[in-house]
Amino acid sequence: MKIIMLGAPGAGKGTQAKLIAEKFGIPHISTGDIFRANIKEGTDLGKEAKEYMDKGQLVPDELTVRILLDRVSKDDCKDGYVLDGFPRTIPQAEVLDSEVAKMGDKIDFAIDVDVPDENIIRRMGGRRACLKCGATYHIEHVPPKKEGICDTCGSELVLRDDDKPETVKNRLEVYHKQTQPLIDHYSRLNILRTVDGTQDVKVVFDNIVKLLEA
Ligand code: ADP
Ligand code: AMP
Repeated sequence: MKIIMLGAPGAGKGTQAKLIAEKFGIPHISTGDIFRANIKEGTDLGKEAKEYMDKGQLVPDELTVRILLDRVSKDDCKDGYVLDGFPRTIPQAEVLDSEVAKMGDKIDFAIDVDVPDENIIRRMGGRRACLKCGATYHIEHVPPKKEGICDTCGSELVLRDDDKPETVKNRLEVYHKQTQPLIDHYSRLNILRTVDGTQDVKVVFDNIVKLLEA
């Protein structure tokens, strides 16, 4: 099964993508996590991506598409994947659609996790991320078992540089301008499914599973 997660930054795409990946035994691929891992390792790719990410802008399509296509060509993606944070622009979606079609395949679902901007702004300041394994927590709504420590891999949790309020505002603007048009794009292809992302993590997940198994 090939799934795309859509939604504003902070809507819960990563949280749900991880649960979907576990349930269906497919890899969870987050372009943001790939960029952050490169920033941590100090690679050239990381240095380039950081310039854009710190301002709340999108990393250029050409670079992002290359990274994503390289990742989905790996063996573990043969039976599907859940993409979190890609595509984020119409050109990215067009490349993905055509690359998947070349392999005689298709994207099965694009799931839009719908959360209004007011809730997003409140959520982001409380997000804590593990830069090692990509797990995400929230200090109130989704706390780790031990404060500041990742349940999954034991690493330290951090507030992402791009989760500061000024950057979040930019990211929301970028989302509305460049990413929201993808909702129409996938609606026209009849694979769009929308869930109310303001509910509890578990309720959102149950609703997604119902849509995927319908
Ligand atoms: P995205 O991947 O869309 O940027 P995340 O999955 O990282 O979003 O979620 C953003 C923040 O909101 C995190 O701190 C996460 O723990 C929290 N969160 C995710 N889903 C919910 C939810 N349904 N209710 C409350 N908080 C949530
Ligand atoms: P995320 O972890 O998905 O919130 O992404 C964090 C940041 O990484 C974004 O604000 C962008 O700067 C960059 N990024 C992640 N995915 C993409 C993408 N598909 N296209 C362009 N930039 C991206």
